[in-house]
Amino acid sequence: MIRSKSLLVHPGGQDNFDDAFAFILLHQVGHAVVDVLQLDLGVSTEEAADQFVAMIAGMAPGELDGLVNGVAALQDLEFDWETPDTGATTIGSDRGATLTCLLYGGNPDAHANLVEQGELTASRATSCVGEFADLQARWTALLESHLNQG
Ligand SMILES: [Zn+2]
Repeated sequence: MIRSKSLLVHPGGQDNFDDAFAFILLHQVGHAVVDVLQLDLGVSTEEAADQFVAMIAGMAPGELDGLVNGVAALQDLEFDWETPDTGATTIGSDRGATLTCLLYGGNPDAHANLVEQGELTASRATSCVGEFADLQARWTALLESHLNQG
């Protein structure tokens, strides 16, 4: 896992930039989907948008595996990319751990190295596949009524 204060200057930074950009884009689409469809997920708007990212990543194994690197890079940047100049950190440790767990849970084979690298604790990893399955079931149930409207 590449850790850097800048997405652009670290060796391999282009990959981090692409992964971070993909995460931000999908996160914003997640906000739009939740808002337009008025989905009640029982979580904060930020968590709901993050869940959308994890769900999409889980549906595209091999295509979006780098998202976890983008999350780590954004976490390391320690600034709020949704509301700059606030001094806030957008992805704190709890949010980052949840995102990492859900991305792992959606494709554990591709992310097996996260435990070895210390990005995900072994104890948390054991529950991530189940957490992802629960998330996917909640989203599928909420989206089905919108998909079957003809
Ligand atoms: Zn957001």
